[in-house]
Amino acid sequence: MRDDWRDALLREGVDPDALGAASSTSEEPPCPACGTAAPLVEGACSDCGLQLE
Ligand SMILES: [Zn+2]
Repeated sequence: MRDDWRDALLREGVDPDALGAASSTSEEPPCPACGTAAPLVEGACSDCGLQLE
């Protein structure tokens, strides 16, 4: 899953490592639905509840 996320960013011309450096407050990728970058709760976004894992 993480590799797919990285590949998607690379296809868009975005360097995932540069993104990580810019948002050092969280290691979590932002939720694709609401943009919340928070630890998952039981595999789901803690804000909107989207199942991510
Ligand atoms: Zn969400």
